[in-house]
Amino acid sequence: MQRSLERSNAHFKKAVGRLPLGVASNFRYWGDDRTIYVSHGRGARLWDIDGNEYVDYRLGYGPAILGYADPRVDQAAWAGMEVGGVFALATEREYTVAERICKMVPSAELVRYSNSGTEAVMAALRLARGYTGKDSYIIVEGGYHGLFDAVLWYAAVQDWSEGEGEPELRPYSQGVPRLLKRLVHQVPLNDADKLEDVLKRHGDDIGAFLIEPIMGNCCGITAEPQYVKDVRTLCDKYGVVMIVDEVKTGFRVARGGVQELMGVKADLCTFAKAVANGYPISVLAGREEIMRKIGGGVAHGGTYTAHSVSLAAAEKTLEILDETSALEDIAAYGTAMQKGMSEILDRRGIAHSFVGHPSMAGLFFSETAPTNYRDWANSDYTFYDALARTLHDLGVLCEPDSREPWFISAAHDEACLAETLAAFEQAVDRTIETLGTGQADKARTAG
Ligand code: PLP
Repeated sequence: MQRSLERSNAHFKKAVGRLPLGVASNFRYWGDDRTIYVSHGRGARLWDIDGNEYVDYRLGYGPAILGYADPRVDQAAWAGMEVGGVFALATEREYTVAERICKMVPSAELVRYSNSGTEAVMAALRLARGYTGKDSYIIVEGGYHGLFDAVLWYAAVQDWSEGEGEPELRPYSQGVPRLLKRLVHQVPLNDADKLEDVLKRHGDDIGAFLIEPIMGNCCGITAEPQYVKDVRTLCDKYGVVMIVDEVKTGFRVARGGVQELMGVKADLCTFAKAVANGYPISVLAGREEIMRKIGGGVAHGGTYTAHSVSLAAAEKTLEILDETSALEDIAAYGTAMQKGMSEILDRRGIAHSFVGHPSMAGLFFSETAPTNYRDWANSDYTFYDALARTLHDLGVLCEPDSREPWFISAAHDEACLAETLAAFEQAVDRTIETLGTGQADKARTAG
């Protein structure tokens, strides 16, 4: 049955009169006639205001790691509400949650809280600069670290070809001050020589290197463990603070995040999405010597920091992630889903690969997985784009942009898996029909 978006479409017409693009975040606008308004979410499913039901693999870009409205977390949040909100004073639970984080994440010696991923990364960058006294920093092509000016830069690899020097650095948004460009350097993932090159030339000015070793905003493209170790060595050699941005990977790919998976310790690391199963809280953690600069010259704080509701939700979510098999179950579901999808694609001779971690993987229509943003940008993602739209029509919600991985929660169950694979099979066939053999053949022979 074809879904109807009649109510969502009608609501869009109203909403756009009061909200730019009719939504509260630019990324939620999927077109005038495809923007969805949610009625509610439970477990791994959500329902839009037309009553369409979806198995959800976006999970709000990752936060709902235990599923929407998890009763254990919501009950804790209610108890947090009774504490009373924020007081511009500290509460005891800040310490309890910090103890849990330090137990789970090997590089976390001290902890501070913020409200969003953006705020945590902002704080990390400021702290790195305060600690080193150096203003410039390096980011990785294809990475995303939030909506603040310092990190809203991208490498224009679409308009560039190998041998032309480095791709131009451009701001993601109007309003980002051009003068900031002087401080930003970008390097491709998995190329330690390029990184050292930049450090040799500019190391005296560079205070921080910011990296997502599993790129949660670029299909889950993954750093080779050796590259991450080289990064660690180079940061030490050039006096640069290594910031691992675990806003998406943290408390998801392992209890100790991607740092545990890759056996590396960052100087500073940031967490947000999975910390409190969707309640707004983020974490900056790291090495004591650096963290003690907070309060010793570096400013940090905020009116809503460590709100009693979010903090109580964090305490319960982290307890569950630490003490149950939730993360193992999530990874097992991801692996089973990839196996099922591969069988469907293999039967049709469609070349493909998965990148990332089973709990947050990208699907890529080529035999060889991309190893950096340049590979993704130069790839043909037309097949994915068309497939994603069809999946929405069939009740499976993945991000329409192929750079966003598929997120799994502990609430995805056998029924979700069976429905997802049935819809996936239909969607692949419809996509082949719609795009004609040209595009399907490309996917068949890609790689
Ligand atoms: N860092 C990473 C790796 C992210 O994926 C995101 C958001 O997707 C952010 C930072 C910003 O987080 P927020 O949207 O909570 O500000």
